[in-house]
Amino acid sequence: MTAIPGRKPAMGAHVSIAGGVATAPERGVRIGADVVQIFSKHGQRWEGKPIEPDDVHGFRAETERTGVRTVAVHCAYLINLASAKEDVRTRSLYALEDEASRAALLGIPHLVMHPGSPGDDPEEEGIARIVSALKAFGKFPAGVSLLLENTAGQGASLGKTMEQLRRMLDGAGNPPDVAVCLDSAHLFEAGHDLSNADHWAEFKDNLDRTGILPLVRMWHINDSKTGFASRVDRHEHIGRGQVGIEAFRRIVNDPVFRELPLILETPKDGADEYEMDLVNLASLRALVGTSPD
Ligand SMILES: [Zn+2]
Ligand SMILES: [Zn+2]
Repeated sequence: MTAIPGRKPAMGAHVSIAGGVATAPERGVRIGADVVQIFSKHGQRWEGKPIEPDDVHGFRAETERTGVRTVAVHCAYLINLASAKEDVRTRSLYALEDEASRAALLGIPHLVMHPGSPGDDPEEEGIARIVSALKAFGKFPAGVSLLLENTAGQGASLGKTMEQLRRMLDGAGNPPDVAVCLDSAHLFEAGHDLSNADHWAEFKDNLDRTGILPLVRMWHINDSKTGFASRVDRHEHIGRGQVGIEAFRRIVNDPVFRELPLILETPKDGADEYEMDLVNLASLRALVGTSPD
């Protein structure tokens, strides 16, 4: 069950850090993961306990012992760089800075963030605010890059199309330390049927045309409880939702994505926190090397 170095594609899940960040790699071992993602603090709070030198040592030692790489920190959901409220934008910028320095301390390469929502304000204004926040932020700490995640487009949330992500990146001057994380549930909920061969080809063209393809650094690999183009974000276990197993078969087998880590963010509703991650990873691994319909 220990991580197999070099296995492609590398797969794993978002895991808890209850008991400290140093517990994350062992949680990865328990689910047979190659890679994991964590929150470095509570996902729904602005403040987090500082990361102490002991946490850093413990985390690095456990990473070494288990071979499970923590490839990403998911930012707290409160961060909203597109908010209509200036105080929220300011807090968000400080929070992003904090997240980035925590990731740097732990040696975690990616910081995943939802671009944000302008509420009732026009999309353009939201994008302009994200752009100015990214410009104000400047450079990320060495070894850390920000990944803008595509969204389901729930409410006014930005990032539901590749074109929107492109506009944010262009506006910010295409910083070398800002890239993209794709979420399979969000894509489906935003109107991409990746289980269909034609739509898959169309989606890849879209990634190519917008120049997003070379910026994709990881996948959140989730099924969706809600329907096609529902714009409602509800994750489901692999193969039990509406995305369609062929979509997952394409993602795990496409040579273009082979080097990218795949992270589950599916419910932990089994007998314990590990059960369903084990089931979902087994479902995904069973697809590797098989050919689409
Ligand atoms: Zn996600
Ligand atoms: Zn989601």
